[in-house]
Amino acid sequence: MAQNYDVVIIGGGTGGYVAAIRAAQLGLKTAIVENEKLGGTCLHKGCIPSKALLRSAEVYRMANKTASDFGVEIEGVTLQFDKVQARKQAIVEQLSQGVNTLMKKGKIDVYEGYGRVLGPSIFSPMPGTVSVELRNGDENEMLLPTNVVIATGSKPRGIEGLTVDGNYVMNSDHALMMETLPKSLLIVGGGVIGIEWASMLCDFGVYVTVIEFGPTILPAEDMDVVKELTKQLEKRGVRIVTNAKLKVDTFDIKNDSVFISAQVEEIEEQFEADKLLLCVGREANTKGIGLENTEIEVENGFIKVQDTYQTKESHMYAIGDVIGGLQLAHVASHEGLSAIEHIATGKIGVLDPLRVPKCVYSYPEVASIGLTEKDAKEQGFTLKIGNFPFKAIGKALVNGETEGFVKIVADVQTNDILGIHMVGPHVTDLIGEASLAKLLDATPWEISQAIHPHPSLNEVLVESALAVDNRAIHF
Ligand code: FAD
Repeated sequence: MAQNYDVVIIGGGTGGYVAAIRAAQLGLKTAIVENEKLGGTCLHKGCIPSKALLRSAEVYRMANKTASDFGVEIEGVTLQFDKVQARKQAIVEQLSQGVNTLMKKGKIDVYEGYGRVLGPSIFSPMPGTVSVELRNGDENEMLLPTNVVIATGSKPRGIEGLTVDGNYVMNSDHALMMETLPKSLLIVGGGVIGIEWASMLCDFGVYVTVIEFGPTILPAEDMDVVKELTKQLEKRGVRIVTNAKLKVDTFDIKNDSVFISAQVEEIEEQFEADKLLLCVGREANTKGIGLENTEIEVENGFIKVQDTYQTKESHMYAIGDVIGGLQLAHVASHEGLSAIEHIATGKIGVLDPLRVPKCVYSYPEVASIGLTEKDAKEQGFTLKIGNFPFKAIGKALVNGETEGFVKIVADVQTNDILGIHMVGPHVTDLIGEASLAKLLDATPWEISQAIHPHPSLNEVLVESALAVDNRAIHF
């Protein structure tokens, strides 16, 4: 029998399940359809498991390399990768149960199965009925929503001509489930995911080569930050090859190793490793979900939406990775909340990409918000820049982690902060303050006037804010 709902959400990732909770809070009768596990990519194949592995890698690096600097001698350090994986999985399971509990608490109906949008049918003259192919094999459920939110997310992109077999050639889904570590690894792609893997595996003792098509890794970040991270990764033994055009037809597997060549500027170089990890971006899950039964438009592979997150069918919304833009969990959830707010109240909550913090959980970490120096110059701003190194921050010395800096890019005319760029210890936590500063339109002076505890890493923000007007105290 068909069930009526105010909102049906297809996809239970960060975007979808957060939207479902808000819809239920606002009194809407809500259902969510999830084909795999609630929590989606972020919880099961992305943010959380990768950060759990990164943390184990950090502990291993410290035990192996830096503990003795603190006067702590640890002998016979060994890595038990099965325990590393088990710890990661336990964290994922705990959070996963938490999401299931939240669905029950919100009285949200969860349908375990594959959702497809139908066109006009006996159920409704409008497109938007959702047919659910249930995982348990029972007859399809028909859901009749007043509004639909498509939150089907994304999956790893491949490269034409290179077969991803999950063993010799992996994507991030496979890498997260590795039972043993390779001795050497080629990572194709120097974006956020590729660089996090490079940093983590290097800490685990894997010999890593990053092959990047463009002139630098992390092309969206400020170039000073990129230079510093590149230097630090290379110092730890990661080989980074840029301007490298992969020659897919040279790929071969021989004697349990992979071989592939790339044109690196003028020279063709052959690379060899135990395995290859493809990190070349993510494509939206737009196929097989019934879009052809609707007027919904897909542009460059992503569902096209307006500022309200409505598609061309005004009662059907789309949010998260499936609409492109910044493919981040906090963006997906913010968009989910905005879409539901629009459904319930008509309010529009446009997301300004310049107010979205972006993080790379490598060692050292990278975090940024707003315009890079280059982008700000290209947009015609006259700039003043404050730069302050962690090596002049007491707490960084206490922690034994002094690499990196914070850079604030401000507008000479208005004093507005245009961008804040960080590379160094715990900057993925420090960027929260920068995000608040951007939201409140704070000037560098206002940041410097907020009293920060001493000793703390946060003091780097005060000093870099003061440095914008050449008033830094400790450097
Ligand atoms: P998803 O999380 O992809 O969820 C979509 C859900 O829809 C999935 O559960 C899928 O099974 C389901 N689904 C798809 N089609 C159907 C269907 N037809 N019927 C029913 N269900 C369906 N972002 C960060 O902000 N911070 C990070 O540190 C970070 N690290 C990452 C690390 C890695 C290795 C990866 C791969 C990604 C990372 N991301 C990170 C990105 C983040 O995971 C995504 O931006 C986020 O998960 C997007 O949320 P979403 O809800 O749009 O889609």
